[in-house]
Amino acid sequence: MTDNWDVIIVGGGNAAFCAALAARERGLSILMLERAPENESGGNSRFTAGAFRIVYNGVDDLRVLMPDLTDAECAISDFGAYTRDQFFDDMFRVTRWRTHGDLCERLVTKSYESALWLQSKGMRFQPIWGRQAYKIDGKFKFWGGLTVESWGGGPGLVDQHNSIAKKRGVELRCNTRALSLIYDGHAVTGVRVKHNNAMHDLRAACVVLACGGFESNPEWRTRYLGPGWNSRKCAAHVSTRATACEWRST
Ligand SMILES: Cc1cc2nc3c(=O)[nH]c(=O)nc-3n(C[C@H](O)[C@H](O)[C@H](O)COP(=O)(O)OP(=O)(O)OC[C@H]3O[C@@H](n4cnc5c(N)ncnc54)[C@H](O)[C@@H]3O)c2cc1C
Repeated sequence: MTDNWDVIIVGGGNAAFCAALAARERGLSILMLERAPENESGGNSRFTAGAFRIVYNGVDDLRVLMPDLTDAECAISDFGAYTRDQFFDDMFRVTRWRTHGDLCERLVTKSYESALWLQSKGMRFQPIWGRQAYKIDGKFKFWGGLTVESWGGGPGLVDQHNSIAKKRGVELRCNTRALSLIYDGHAVTGVRVKHNNAMHDLRAACVVLACGGFESNPEWRTRYLGPGWNSRKCAAHVSTRATACEWRST
């Protein structure tokens, strides 16, 4: 088993798998490190609805993304549209204009093509019939601009990612916790990990950190969301708290 990779990706959630697929299509060797055991892998991504907020201009766009949609299903559904302007307005309203300009523009303008890209890798999508539609006068009317989810919701998202990655030759090592980056004084050259109570050094030309956001850190939750948020239970909070501390001390 080699321990020298083109890219090591820390994490096993949606962000990590997307990074892995993007790097793999450039022909690179990829190792993903997941702290959790396989049956609990996927971080917060596993606990989501698997909902994807994307720009679409009507049912024709949705049928490209979800070719399983039948004529009969379309006839009883009012999917409406979710335009770029609506997506931008929602981002500005929800963040009170504090969203990052470049990232927001990328998120909105690339949302549809990103979903299509995932579909081209093998990801299957479906309309969020159960959560985002009301039956009005015999038709399911979608609301909120949130119309598409991965098949099987959050668990389906992670399970699909797992099998797509495996088929494409990405290696995922579970029960493997990243402890620190290896830095030779010029560049990051790998990751120190803990697996089966032993430490190992894994080498890579490039390391991607996709091990969750600040919501997994109780101190940061309290600081940015307010009192009481420190005691919330959150997927992978122990691991990411440790990760955040150790990255900072490296
Ligand atoms: C209840 C809930 C519902 C949500 N619903 C939606 C939704 O429907 N649609 C949507 O777009 N967003 C939703 N979100 C937000 C969404 O969960 C996050 O934006 C998304 O999961 C972030 O993905 P990620 O890959 O960055 O992190 P995560 O999915 O949390 O993945 C982090 C990964 O890193 C691993 N990890 C952490 N530390 C280490 C370490 N030291 N070594 C190795 N591995 C490590 C974890 O085990 C995990 O696999 C929801 C969030 C919650 C809490």
